Amino acid sequence: MNAVTVNGRTYKAPTRPTVVVCVDGSAPGYIEKAAAKGRVPFLARMLKEGTSRLADCVVPSFTNPNNLSIVTGAPPAVHGICGNYFLDPETGKEVMMNDARFLRAPTLFRAFQDQGARIAIVTAKDKLRKLLGHGLALGPDKAVCFSSEHADKATIAENGIDGVLELVGMKLPDVYSAALSEFVFAAGVRLLEKSRWDLMYLSTTDYIQHKHAPGTPVADDFYAMMDGYLAKLDKMGAVVGLTADHGMNAKHRPDKTPDVLYLQDELDAFLGANVARVILPITDPYVVHHGALGSYAVVHLPADSDIDKVRSRIAILPGIETVLNRREAAKRFELPEDRLGDLIVVSAVHKVLGTAAAKHDLSGLTEPLRSHGGISEQAVPFLINRPADIAPERRLRNFDIYEVALNHVR
Ligand SMILES: [Zn+2]
Repeated sequence: MNAVTVNGRTYKAPTRPTVVVCVDGSAPGYIEKAAAKGRVPFLARMLKEGTSRLADCVVPSFTNPNNLSIVTGAPPAVHGICGNYFLDPETGKEVMMNDARFLRAPTLFRAFQDQGARIAIVTAKDKLRKLLGHGLALGPDKAVCFSSEHADKATIAENGIDGVLELVGMKLPDVYSAALSEFVFAAGVRLLEKSRWDLMYLSTTDYIQHKHAPGTPVADDFYAMMDGYLAKLDKMGAVVGLTADHGMNAKHRPDKTPDVLYLQDELDAFLGANVARVILPITDPYVVHHGALGSYAVVHLPADSDIDKVRSRIAILPGIETVLNRREAAKRFELPEDRLGDLIVVSAVHKVLGTAAAKHDLSGLTEPLRSHGGISEQAVPFLINRPADIAPERRLRNFDIYEVALNHVR
C-alpha cells in the first residue's frame, strides 16, 4: 500500500490497524478525573506513556462538522458540513445537513480504499453513517459502515455487513443510552478480532456527557466501560487514537434552569416579527437531552438590512461572546462562506442561544442543561496509545488525529 494524498495532506499507509475513536462531547477532565480514581487503567497509561495533548475542534463545536473534519483531515471550508442543520440558500428551506450531497470533499477512507485498504466505520447514531461512509465500496472484504442505532437492519448492500447483533453479542441499544456508545466499542473489538482492518473509525454519542459532568459517578462508569474495550484494541496491536468532536459545559443558572438567550425573540422586538431568521445548527432529530440549545446561532437578515446595526445590537446582549459577519466567521472558523447566514453569534461558556422561547420544548431536560457549540467547548483531548514525534508548539486540531497516528507515531 502506498501513501495517499487527500484534501492537501499526505498520509503514510497504515502498517498496523489504526483505530481512531471520537468520543462525542468528551471535554478535557472526564478521562483525567476517572484516571485519578483508578477507574481507567488503560487510559491512564495512554496519558502517561503515550501521546497526550489537547487539541482544538472546529467551531461550531457540533457533532457533524467535527466528525467530518476528522475523517477528511480538513476544516468545514473544505468539506462543506458546517452544522447539523442549516438554511439551504439554494432552496430557502431549513434542512438537516446529514445528506451526502452536502459533502464537498472525499474522506481519507475513500482515498485509502483506492490503495486497497480495508475500512471499518461504526457510529452510534445513524445520522452520521452516510456522510462517514460516503464514496466507499462496501462489502465484507472492502469496507463496513454501520450504526449502533440501526445495527439490526444492517445489510451487505447498505452496510457491507449483516448479522451485526450476532457478531457483537449485544441486544439493540436504546438511542438515548450509554449502551448505544458501548455497542460501538464492542463492535470495533469484535471486528478486529475476526479480521484485519487497516483503518477503523469509532464514533460515539454524547448522551452521557450532556447529563453528567467530569468526575461524577455515571461519567466515571462510562469511561471505565470504554477503557476495557480500548485495552483490547491495544492488545491486538492497534494504534489507538482518541479525540472528541467537541467539549461540553454546564449551561444553567445557579437554580439549575437553563441559561438561555432567546435570540429570535430579541430580534423580533428590535426589528419586528420574523424579519430576522435565527437558525440553530445544533438542531437534529435527537434533541431530548439538550432541547436544541447550544452556544452557536446563525442569523439571516433581509437583503436591505443594516447588518452592522443588528450586529451591534446583538453584541450588547448578556452572555454574548462574539458576533461575526459572514466573511469574518468564514475566515476565523474556516467555514464555507456560502453556507453561513449574515451574522454568526457565539454565546459565552455558560449561556445558550435559542430561537423563540415558545419553540423550545424543554420538558425532556431531566438534568441541569449541559451543552456545546461555542468557542468555550473547543478544547478536546488528543491521545494516542504510543508516543508520537510532534513539535510541542504545533497547534493540534482534532482533525489531525489520523495524520499524527499514521505519520508521527514511533
Ligand atoms: Zn457531539
